[in-house]
Amino acid sequence: SRREEGNSVHFYNSQLQGIHAQHLKIETELRQAINNNELELFYQPKMDSHNGEIHSCESLLRWLNDEGRPRYSPVEFIPVAEQSGLIIPLGEWVLETAFAQANHWRQHQPMVTAINLSQRQFQHHDFLPLLQRLKDKYPGIEPFIELEITESLLMQDVSCSISTMQAIKDMGFALSIDDFGTGYSSLSYLKEFPIDKLKIDRSFVMDMTNNKEDQMLVETIIQLAHSLGLATVAEGVETQDQLQALQSIHCAEIQGYLISRPLSAQDYAEFMASYYQG
Ligand code: C2E
Ligand code: CA
Ligand code: CA
Ligand code: CA
Repeated sequence: SRREEGNSVHFYNSQLQGIHAQHLKIETELRQAINNNELELFYQPKMDSHNGEIHSCESLLRWLNDEGRPRYSPVEFIPVAEQSGLIIPLGEWVLETAFAQANHWRQHQPMVTAINLSQRQFQHHDFLPLLQRLKDKYPGIEPFIELEITESLLMQDVSCSISTMQAIKDMGFALSIDDFGTGYSSLSYLKEFPIDKLKIDRSFVMDMTNNKEDQMLVETIIQLAHSLGLATVAEGVETQDQLQALQSIHCAEIQGYLISRPLSAQDYAEFMASYYQG
């Protein structure tokens, strides 16, 4: 009825105001957190599914409180950073920090470090110059850096995306498409994208051992990737059954709590030491 519609509009508006207030709160706190250097990068290992070795990881932003618990999850504060423009200084800090860490590891136990890029960051005029500055600062770092971009980001302006991706590739960095399968990219674009890897979204991995259709979907994505000469990573792998299912369909890399949660740089070093001892 009309009345219900009226109520739902009212509810919708007050809900929106709530969301808006929460955004403002996070934005204010985030601005301070960036200035006070309160954000940290964690690293989650990716395992080679053939031999069980770990040579790569993904960097993930963490905003922790004094007790070391998340103050906000990236799922909450990344969108705020995007909307407010804070993602530009934040994203720059992420790139600098991850490059420095990759450069450090390179001298001990080389580790390819994947870095998440947000839409606004990818489209920003200073993004390619920033990558070039980091490349100059750490000569020879290219094989140790991988950049992750989401499928939906690329589809906003395909020709512009392709030229930025090509510039990244020309600099020598690897590129992967994140959350593959959740976006709306058409398969015909996929072969135009100068990418190296597809990351299969956790939502498909989650149900693949008890849902035949999800298993088929993952298998199809992997076959598609192989036929396009792309590597594959499955994210969100939590169980031994999922690991076995993914190994049987030749998914190259495995990422998820089964291997490890994301860890601070220090914990990551300890994890690696015990991984290769045990
Ligand atoms: P994403 O890039 O898809 O990252 C994977 C997310 O899955 C991470 O959540 C990770 O902690 C979580 N995860 C990994 N393994 C498992 C598992 O086995 N089970 C479950 N349930 N979850 C798992 P996180 O760290 O909360 O990050 C969420 C999202 O925030 C990321 O999704 C990414 O889109 C964004 N994000 C994180 N760090 C950055 C960053 O430095 N820059 C940008 N632009 N975005 C970031
Ligand atoms: Ca990612
Ligand atoms: Ca992902
Ligand atoms: Ca995901």
